[in-house]
Amino acid sequence: MIPRTVYNEDHEQFRDTVRKFLENEAAPHHAQWEKDGQVDRALWNKAGDMGFLCPQVPEAYGGLELDFGYNAIIDEEISRLGLTGIGWGLHSDIAVPYIVNYGSEEQKQKYLPKCISGELVTAIAMTEPGAGSDLQGVRSTAIKQGDHYVLNGSKTFITNGQHADLVVVVAKTNPEEGASGVSLLLVEADSPGFKKGTNLEKIGMKAQDTSELFFDDVKVPVENLLGAEGQGFVYLMQELPQERLSVAVNAIANAEAALGWTIDYVRERKAFGKPIAAFQNTQFKLAELDSELTALRVFVDRCLELHYDRKLDVSTAAKAKYLSTDFQCKLLDECVQLHGGFGYMWEYPIARAWADARVQRIYAGTNEIMKLIISRELLKE
Ligand SMILES: Cc1cc2nc3c(=O)[nH]c(=O)nc-3n(C[C@H](O)[C@H](O)[C@H](O)COP(=O)(O)OP(=O)(O)OC[C@H]3O[C@@H](n4cnc5c(N)ncnc54)[C@H](O)[C@@H]3O)c2cc1C
Repeated sequence: MIPRTVYNEDHEQFRDTVRKFLENEAAPHHAQWEKDGQVDRALWNKAGDMGFLCPQVPEAYGGLELDFGYNAIIDEEISRLGLTGIGWGLHSDIAVPYIVNYGSEEQKQKYLPKCISGELVTAIAMTEPGAGSDLQGVRSTAIKQGDHYVLNGSKTFITNGQHADLVVVVAKTNPEEGASGVSLLLVEADSPGFKKGTNLEKIGMKAQDTSELFFDDVKVPVENLLGAEGQGFVYLMQELPQERLSVAVNAIANAEAALGWTIDYVRERKAFGKPIAAFQNTQFKLAELDSELTALRVFVDRCLELHYDRKLDVSTAAKAKYLSTDFQCKLLDECVQLHGGFGYMWEYPIARAWADARVQRIYAGTNEIMKLIISRELLKE
């Protein structure tokens, strides 16, 4: 076991609080939330009361102004318990940082305190039915007319889509342009013309609300433009490393937990008169998985350290996302195998984790797109 040095004592105390909260307030209800297709909205407010939302936000806006390690600890504890319905990571690690980093003073004052308290749930709407990997191809438009933009278009697969009160929307303010025509807008969910589609039925992460969003002549005040017009793509590129690191952190924490569940299982379960753990195949599989896990844990922790110092580059974040999620899926598949038929039963955490993990290789940029980013960097003249 290689000791982790990425967290200090304060981080670990925070972890205990998060863990207890999740064990008491979320884990017992998660199976029901899977049936409901979303977590109880009140969980967000409880998390806000506990200081679990947006720990990085500056004190000036009511935040705790902590380092990203606190976000990572929350991500790890959620993943460790397989509570994939909880969309705090999307809120704290991905959507809200756009307001912190590019928002006007007025936007920060207006929205950040409510994002911290859980009064506002955020989402980020990039993907459209016709444009996912190729974000420059988004068709949603936000055309300036006097003191507002008129937003039209539709988005899909949006995490927190049902609960969202505030959405960072990627749209073209100049439809003639590619990347340089893209802007980000803060859109309030109760704006006339903004409709949420049905909660999409997924093969995993069943307690996570994931939706289509529709914009029909939605008037977005010009004050709700995030940052500068035409800079949306640049902002996305700047923020995506944190999103990808967050996914990598989740992947490794979940893989670690799943390996633990499997070790417990193979010790208990017997075949041919002995525990499954007594077979050399089991021992070798566990040894292989644990070895790779150790290497990836060290790599992802190093990425976290780099990120504390704002030195995590786009290509390294892409490597972390791709390697950790590919590995997570591989590990879960092997662990399901070691569980035999029980591993295929929804009541077993390993089965849920296997289904939940599959999307990790798809969202936050597919792993193929990660390889494009890495190879581009390698082949750069
Ligand atoms: C559960 C879930 C939650 C999500 N949450 C959000 C969210 O909150 N906000 C949001 O905006 N989006 C979200 N997404 C969308 C997600 O980011 C996209 O699905 C993802 O980026 C891929 O886009 P796509 O589905 O259009 O696939 P496509 O882009 O159509 O890709 C299809 C396949 O082609 C491959 N491919 C595409 N281009 C290339 C290329 N140049 N070279 C090689 N291979 C390529 C891809 O890797 C993939 O294998 C979510 C998706 C899911 C399933």
